[in-house]
Amino acid sequence: MANTYVVLGYGRSGRESEKYLLSLGHDVIVYDDGQNKRPSITWQDVVGLVQSPGISCVHPIHLAAKAANVPVLTDINLLQKRSPNIKYIGITGTNGKSTSTALIGHILKEAGLKVAVGGNIGVPALSLDELDYDGWYVLELSSYQLELSTDIDLDIAVWVNISADHLDRHGSIENYVDAKKRIFNRTKLVCISLDDAYSRQVSDQLLIPAKTIATEFKNCPADIWIDAGGMLHAEGTVFNCNDLEILKGQHNWQNTALAFAACNHILNNPEDVWQYIESFPGLAHRQQMVAKVSQVEFVNDSKATNADACEKALKTYMGQNIFWILGGVAKTDGIDDLKPYFLHIKKAYLIGEAEDRFADTLNGQIVFEKCATLDVAVFNAYRDARLEGSAVVLLSPACASFDQFRDYEHRGEEFIQLVAKVSQ
Ligand code: ADP
Repeated sequence: MANTYVVLGYGRSGRESEKYLLSLGHDVIVYDDGQNKRPSITWQDVVGLVQSPGISCVHPIHLAAKAANVPVLTDINLLQKRSPNIKYIGITGTNGKSTSTALIGHILKEAGLKVAVGGNIGVPALSLDELDYDGWYVLELSSYQLELSTDIDLDIAVWVNISADHLDRHGSIENYVDAKKRIFNRTKLVCISLDDAYSRQVSDQLLIPAKTIATEFKNCPADIWIDAGGMLHAEGTVFNCNDLEILKGQHNWQNTALAFAACNHILNNPEDVWQYIESFPGLAHRQQMVAKVSQVEFVNDSKATNADACEKALKTYMGQNIFWILGGVAKTDGIDDLKPYFLHIKKAYLIGEAEDRFADTLNGQIVFEKCATLDVAVFNAYRDARLEGSAVVLLSPACASFDQFRDYEHRGEEFIQLVAKVSQ
């Protein structure tokens, strides 16, 4: 009888999947182009393909599995097989997934629940501790994971927002939204933001119970909404988002409102939920205040890999003297959408592959210099920033990092080290 699984992609989650499947007594074939593991596969023996979300659906092994009618799944599906009787929260969206995921995990932990946080946030699903029946898995789910997973059973699905991203892989914004919408296939409750047009359309089509949130406009008919003064209104209670030290900026208020919606559904105690939100320590590489040297603040927003995320940072620091470090591997739309913020930038420092393209966009609008590498950019930005009364040196690249770094974390760590060097 067929008893073999193929694991496509042998990174951290692939290894965990292999370990788990072997423990169940399956045979496992590992396939990974990067590691030159390309064994031949007899598809009649294969019961499932566990695919790493980073690998696209046009990979020959994916296509071969489909042709042989072999189901494709991910480590999230294996986690649900391993731990079927636990509660699950899944979080998706273009930006703010990790912050919302970590925030929800933090609130539930503070409330004394047994919680494990993982998925796309960087902790492979199968490496999460096995929880008792009353525990909660809080999982960040990317569009890639949702596209590849068979239906995921969720108690709560959280939908943060939609803007154009990853279109190279999905082909169109419609396909991208469709991939994300798979989060609803087997969920009991949806918490969804109405702040962008795509999300409003998705919300209109929902046939499952939903709690809606809105932060972008006043008097919106949402269950939880934040007014122009930053007051969060939730089912008769009001809280002041301006008091949040870590969750600054309207984008973070979106994450806050969604986390509030999901967690208050579970805890049913708005005051406690708010208190736990206030104690959230934040995540590295997302508008992370790294140091303040004299009057110069250094902010690490390396996770801003697209223009939309970068816009949030520019908005947050608008009104201050911004010395902006950007560049890397640009997304299709480049930084054209950021033009309205250009007049708030004191000077820009360009790095990486996008240098020439961004120079064309900035030309005549912002003073800039081409620095090629991050060390030069940090050094020169600090040289200029310290001449101002007070200033922010902001690494918010609006680009992926893989031309010069392993990933955005590597880029952010480098920035932190360079800041320590220049401030000595
Ligand atoms: P994701 O996991 O979806 O990439 P993160 O929480 O890691 O999201 O944040 C990534 C970047 O997006 C950060 O630079 C952050 O400033 C910005 N960001 C965070 N939350 C939001 C949001 N709700 N809307 C838009 N941008 C956001």
